[in-house]
Amino acid sequence: MMSTVADILIERAAAIPTWFRIGGGADRLARPETVEQLRRAVEIDPSLRVLGDGANLLVDDDGVGELVVVLDRGEFVRVEADPGTGRVVAGAGADLPKLIVETVRQGLGGLEVLGGIPATVGGAAIMNAGGAFGQFADCVRCVHGLDRAGREVTRERRETGFSYRSSGLQDLVLTRVEFALTPGDPAALRLRLKEVMEYKKRTQPLAANSAGCVFKNPALERDLEGIDVRPGQPELRKGDRISAGFLIDRAGCKAMTVGGATVSDRHANFIVTQRGATAGHVIELIGKVRDRVRDRLGVALETEVVIWRRSS
Ligand SMILES: Cc1cc2nc3c(=O)[nH]c(=O)nc-3n(C[C@H](O)[C@H](O)[C@H](O)COP(=O)(O)OP(=O)(O)OC[C@H]3O[C@@H](n4cnc5c(N)ncnc54)[C@H](O)[C@@H]3O)c2cc1C
Repeated sequence: MMSTVADILIERAAAIPTWFRIGGGADRLARPETVEQLRRAVEIDPSLRVLGDGANLLVDDDGVGELVVVLDRGEFVRVEADPGTGRVVAGAGADLPKLIVETVRQGLGGLEVLGGIPATVGGAAIMNAGGAFGQFADCVRCVHGLDRAGREVTRERRETGFSYRSSGLQDLVLTRVEFALTPGDPAALRLRLKEVMEYKKRTQPLAANSAGCVFKNPALERDLEGIDVRPGQPELRKGDRISAGFLIDRAGCKAMTVGGATVSDRHANFIVTQRGATAGHVIELIGKVRDRVRDRLGVALETEVVIWRRSS
């Protein structure tokens, strides 16, 4: 069902598509095409939620009551690139994998290290998406967005608060991101992108329904002893950032299952879902894995996946 509020078309009882392919919907959902329409959406509901590509998101089975906005059209998917200087401006709803292919084609280097990460530009900025080869923050010049009072805000790179899989941008609805990319040889960049994608395909279950890594790789709060670290690997010392997947595996969680949700046997930090899975199954499994890693290894895991729950 659709209705128009303050010039914005609002869909009622809308599905929220995520990479998990499970979970509840939105009581209200809007697709603004301009910053002006987005500002009106913020006025209607200052606590609105933004849906990117849904690649790092789990929506609880009850869905959410706040207005959900999707920036998949108009200004929000526009991209401008200057191959001479490397300045690229992309709307927050632009598809990151497509942007990577396009910048590589134009001989602009920097984003190819994020090959294989499903995301919108806005979602990748909020999460500071990245991996073994680099992170989103590395080539950001500044970001633009609206604050919850509807005011336009620009944050220079030094004000973005980017850190490991996190940013200080959670208070904003991002509208666009400016990148400083490096002009280079398109053929060399294409080759690099291919290598990055091949590594990702080899190490992660990309075809399954998931949200990528469930937990952040923790920085150890103390030396970790008694863990069978492979020969040649350094010992695990306080302050080291260690693979959450390694810890989950060592705690014996691989193939652990709740209903239709299972810890992937390919990459233990992925939870994959099958037919019949609910968001409740995934949430319960996340809790079980976290408890077992804490009990067996004494390490506290923090979720990377964002969970939306009905607030009242
Ligand atoms: C198969 C697979 C592989 C993955 N591999 C990786 C990987 O290698 N590295 C990695 O870092 N991640 C990985 N992920 C997780 C995911 O790709 C990233 O976290 C990505 O940045 C999520 O972007 P999104 O647009 O889908 O955001 P969503 O999942 O839709 O949203 C994530 C958060 O960002 C917020 N948000 C989104 N857009 C905006 C906006 N415009 N303004 C304000 N807030 C916004 C949302 O409200 C939410 O809080 C993987 C996921 C999958 C499914």
